[in-house]
Amino acid sequence: MTGTEALIILAYLLASVLFIIGLKGLAHPRTAVRGNKIGALGMFIAIVVTLMDKKIISFEIILAGIILGGLIGGVFAVKIAMTAMPQLVGLFNGFGGAASLLVAGAALIEAGGMGSTQLNVATVASGIIGSVTFWGSFIAFGKLQGFISGGQTLIPARHIINILLVSAAMVIGYMIVSDPLNTNMYWYLVIVASFLGVLLVIPIGGADMPVVVSLLNSYSGIAAAATGFVLNNNGLIIAGSLVGASGIILSKIMCVAMNRSLINVLFAKFSVVAGEKTKADDIYEGKIKSTNADEIAMLLDGVQRVVIVPGYGMAVSQAQHAVRDFANLLESKGVEIEYAIHPVAGRMPGHMNVLLAEADIPYEKLKEMDAINPTLDQTDVAIVVGANDVVNPVARTDPSSPIAGMPIIDVDKARTVVVIKRSLSPGFAGIPNPLFAADNTLMFFGDGRKAIVEINNALQDG
Ligand code: NDP
Repeated sequence: MTGTEALIILAYLLASVLFIIGLKGLAHPRTAVRGNKIGALGMFIAIVVTLMDKKIISFEIILAGIILGGLIGGVFAVKIAMTAMPQLVGLFNGFGGAASLLVAGAALIEAGGMGSTQLNVATVASGIIGSVTFWGSFIAFGKLQGFISGGQTLIPARHIINILLVSAAMVIGYMIVSDPLNTNMYWYLVIVASFLGVLLVIPIGGADMPVVVSLLNSYSGIAAAATGFVLNNNGLIIAGSLVGASGIILSKIMCVAMNRSLINVLFAKFSVVAGEKTKADDIYEGKIKSTNADEIAMLLDGVQRVVIVPGYGMAVSQAQHAVRDFANLLESKGVEIEYAIHPVAGRMPGHMNVLLAEADIPYEKLKEMDAINPTLDQTDVAIVVGANDVVNPVARTDPSSPIAGMPIIDVDKARTVVVIKRSLSPGFAGIPNPLFAADNTLMFFGDGRKAIVEINNALQDG
């Protein structure tokens, strides 16, 4: 090994260590920004080393790609609504899978049949996983964005078709390994695996799509790691493995928080026991007490402890800054304020934490579900801002409900609950919520941000 080769390996190792430190930083909101920067530094080192290491044909094309890709990525990052983040992440995973399969294919063609068995096997793996990731992610993006039907599309005999496609991919993969000169086979493999990617994701309902996106994120990492073996690139192997492992851990966390099993998600099964569908009218009729900003300001006069429960509606109405002003106002009157964060509130894990952090709300006030639940019966007022499923008590009481067994924030145990939302419409799970009709609940109908601003005005006037 020459000195330069050793230096290159060391640089990749340094980049990988930075990825791991960066990932560790992402585990806590306080260190997340620094973690992100450390990870980006690792990627910068890896890119510079790669550019210096390999036989680059044209730096101009690479530069053009960086500028164009950077521009597209920048525009997306700035323009995308926080609520559309899951589909954007899904799309980017897909591009990662496509990049891996194209690079692996190019390496196979370049090797001209002289590649090692490791190269050929890894190329087959990258071709299969990369194609599944690309097409699966594209379907997930379409379902979340609404241009493909979001419901379950159950194709007859889909399991048998999938088994046939997996078998075909295996046979073609074997042919590539035994005769790597026949590079056309690689593109047949890509076509077969692409069908597999579409068929694996299309039956899964939109409700499970964020879990699927997280799983496809994991696949994109595995495809990248396989391409790392094709190129003999340690940096790519380690980075791909980290993405693969973290994606699978996140999928598991989401499944636990929604009380779904990963197997049920993947095989498009519903864990719901068939039961009488409860009609919204039966629950709500004659029991809804609506309120307004002045009444809420009066209710808050002299209270000691208030818990704020943010949900998807807070993200839609961008109410986080108004919520912060509301909390500051009450705190200036000596009220204790905490935020109850459900792990799947909003549309992606960490959604609420990011929004509240954006409004400079101190992290120590954000309490996880298990920490806040035992305190809710000592809470004067729980204010639910655009949350629905994550505070729905049927999860505890009705085993036939789609959210049966999902852990929830027990706001119904607070002395008074104020729910801010525009109507009695259901949330993500599409079911009515008896909390809205409970004796201790007051409904404040309106847009989340506007409603909080009105309460703030009433508090200041009072
Ligand atoms: P929900 O989707 O249950 O409810 C959100 C509520 O927000 C709606 O009922 C809606 O009512 C209200 N809303 C919408 N727009 C506004 C607005 N402008 N102002 C005020 N309210 C508004 O949200 P939750 O956060 O409670 O629950 C998240 C759901 O998403 C769970 O079912 C979870 O399983 C699911 N999910 C979450 C994932 C995650 O990772 N976070 C991943 C996959 C699924 P109205 O129209 O009447 O205003």
